[in-house]
Amino acid sequence: MKVNSLTKLYCLIGNPIVKSLSPTIHNYIFDKEKENAVYMAFNIEKKDFENVINSFKAINVKGFNVTIPYKIDIINFLDELSYESELIGAVNTVKIDNGKLIGYNTDGLGFLKTFEERNISLKGKNILILGAGGAAQSIALTVANEGANSLTILNRTVSKSEILVRKIKDKFPEIESSYGSLNETYIDFKNIDILINCTSIGMYPEIDKVPIEINKFNKNVIVYDIIYKPLETELIKSAKKEGMIAIGGLDMLLYQALLSDEIWLNRKLDIEKIKDTLKRRILLENVEVI
Ligand code: NAP
Repeated sequence: MKVNSLTKLYCLIGNPIVKSLSPTIHNYIFDKEKENAVYMAFNIEKKDFENVINSFKAINVKGFNVTIPYKIDIINFLDELSYESELIGAVNTVKIDNGKLIGYNTDGLGFLKTFEERNISLKGKNILILGAGGAAQSIALTVANEGANSLTILNRTVSKSEILVRKIKDKFPEIESSYGSLNETYIDFKNIDILINCTSIGMYPEIDKVPIEINKFNKNVIVYDIIYKPLETELIKSAKKEGMIAIGGLDMLLYQALLSDEIWLNRKLDIEKIKDTLKRRILLENVEVI
C-alpha cells in the first residue's frame, strides 16, 4: 500500500506498547482488504493522554485501540459506549465518527468467537477464572452475560477477586459467584467445566510456570489460557497431555483485532478466514508474538 494524502490513520495507544503485535495484525488486514489505511502504535505518558485524544480528533484519526493502562481512563473522553464496553466497564476500541468518540470493547467478544467457532456454548457452565486484572474482568462479565451457571474467581490479590465478584453479583445476581486466592482448597475442581487462565503466570519469560495443577480437574474440563506468548504455555501443554480440550490465547487476540476492524471499516469481514490465514502466517513465519 502506498501512503498518500487520502490514507486513513488508525492507532494503538498504551504504555508500554513497544512490542505489540497490533500493528502487524491491522496493517496485514488493511492490506488484504485493500484499505488505504495505516496502523501505528504510540507509547503515551499519562500527562499527555488528554492532549493525544484531542489531537486525534483534530488530525482526523479514524479510530484507535486502547491498551494498558488506559482502558478505563479513556471512558471519560467518550461520547457514547457500546453495550459490551458498558457491561465490562472498559474500552479497547474507539471509533471517531464526525468528531464523536464511540467506545467499544472487543476483548470479550473476541474470546466468545473462539467458543462459537468450536460450537461450545457457555450457557449453564461452571467456570473457574484465574486472575482479576483487566482481561479477567472482560472475560468474567462476558461469560456471565452468556448465562454461565457458576463463576469462581481466584487471584493472588484476593481483594481484587472480591471486587470483581461484587461487580458480577451486582449485574448477574442469578449466577452463583465466589472468590478466593490462587491456593484455595474449598473448590470442587472436579465440577468445573471451563478453566480460564487470565493471570500472567506462564507468560514469557517465565514459561515453565503453571497457575494451577491440571490433575485437580475432570478429564473433560476445557482449559483456556489467554496467554499468547508463548503460543503454547505449560498449562496448555499439560492439558493436551491429559487429552483435555486446550485453547491458547492467539485466536482471541486475532479475533478482537478483527472485530475492531469491522467497527472501524463499518462492514462485515470474513473474520474466521482472515483469522486462520493470519494465524498460519504468524506460526509459519515465526512472527514475534509479544
Ligand atoms: P493485568 O490487568 O495486569 O492483570 C494481571 C493478572 O495476573 C492479575 O490477576 C495479577 O494478579 C496476575 N499475576 C501477575 N503476575 C502474577 C504472579 N507472579 N503470580 C500470581 N498472579 C500474577 O493484565 P491483563 O491485561 O489482565 O493480562 C493478563 C494476561 O492475559 C497477560 O498474560 C496478557 O498477555 C494476556 N492477555 C491476552 C489477551 C488475548 O487476546 N489473548 C488479551 C488480554 C490479555 P494480582 O491482581 O495479584 O496482581
